[in-house]
Amino acid sequence: MKEMLIMTPGPTTVAEDVRLARAKATTNPDIDLEFYDFYKNLCVKLAQFLKTKNDVRVLAGEGILGLEAACASLTEPDDRVLVLDNGIFGHGFADFVELYGGEAVLLQSPEKEAFHLELLENFLKKDHDFKYATVVHCDTPSGVLNDLSKICPLLKKYGILTVVDSVAAMGGEDLQVDEWQIDIALGASQKVLSAPPGLTIAAISPAAYQIMEERQRPIASFYCNLLTFKDYYEKKWFPYTMPISDIYGLDKAVDCVLADQEILQRHERIGKATRKAIENSPLELYLQDGYSNTVSVIKVPEGLSDQVILKKMREEYQVMITGSFDSLAGKVLRIGHMGENARANKVAYTLYALQKTLEKLGLKFEKSLQDDFWQSYHLKN
Ligand SMILES: *Cc1c(COP(=O)(O)O)cnc(C)c1O
Repeated sequence: MKEMLIMTPGPTTVAEDVRLARAKATTNPDIDLEFYDFYKNLCVKLAQFLKTKNDVRVLAGEGILGLEAACASLTEPDDRVLVLDNGIFGHGFADFVELYGGEAVLLQSPEKEAFHLELLENFLKKDHDFKYATVVHCDTPSGVLNDLSKICPLLKKYGILTVVDSVAAMGGEDLQVDEWQIDIALGASQKVLSAPPGLTIAAISPAAYQIMEERQRPIASFYCNLLTFKDYYEKKWFPYTMPISDIYGLDKAVDCVLADQEILQRHERIGKATRKAIENSPLELYLQDGYSNTVSVIKVPEGLSDQVILKKMREEYQVMITGSFDSLAGKVLRIGHMGENARANKVAYTLYALQKTLEKLGLKFEKSLQDDFWQSYHLKN
């Protein structure tokens, strides 16, 4: 099997030291008290990474678990929840709210741009009777990045709790949980952190815990109940057996990210250079504004099929990028440059492979995407 360059917006490439950490000998994580300290230490490191004093918990389940757990834990029947919607994950939150009996009120902002702040401001002046609001940091199917530093404090001004899906941004874009007043911040192992899929990261504020504790009715789930983890350390009890090898891997991945002083700058430099190369070519970016530095989303050139392009890139260049789904299925191509994928040589080769593939399919380029990428990448700004 030829080695594939995985350039998707998650799961990302898993580095060797993370793979090796997952191969370490294991203990019984329910009984061995040392594991409780190991887990606690991982949560402390994650809190540092997320710039928060709030509790952080690592849950056994892929990132979707965090989205559902936040909604399950906060929502009581007939609660009104504000769902900020400028993308597919954005309105997807409504499903979780409604599953647990809440009333999801969608506030839509144009999909190709960062969420419009004035739109939210004007809306809240008229209606702010919400228990919590959901916001997506980077809505990966389109790559749009929302400005949490403005959105979350504005919601909190009206006493609305904030739930943030930062699965595709955390680590690659700035995220300041305390400064931006995020009550529940959610991430996952397989994106910027570049560990395999399987774990959710949740930072939970005292205000969010309080709402959960003061509920009239119990949380209608066991696995999605964030309260069950609250006092695990004092009780020396996890609600279910923790996947210890996954946790070892994530711990190593977090160490790598914390040691990587330049990680945000590198994502920014790579994101900008990728967009510049695309803009200087016959290709077109999908978004008009609000670009995330973790993923670039490109319109499928007219007359071509995303599936044909993707297959050819895999088979002839061993590069795996992806299309999108839902309303964007067949319309765009996505290059994930997050975490281990955010390496200039990998992105440059991906752009080379994309150009060669498109040329074979009849598209004409005047310049080299790869050269343009390197030129912008080396520009001092
Ligand atoms: C990846 C991702 C998730 C997790 O969802 P999967 O589709 O199961 O990978 C959640 N939210 C966002 C924004 C994501 O990018």
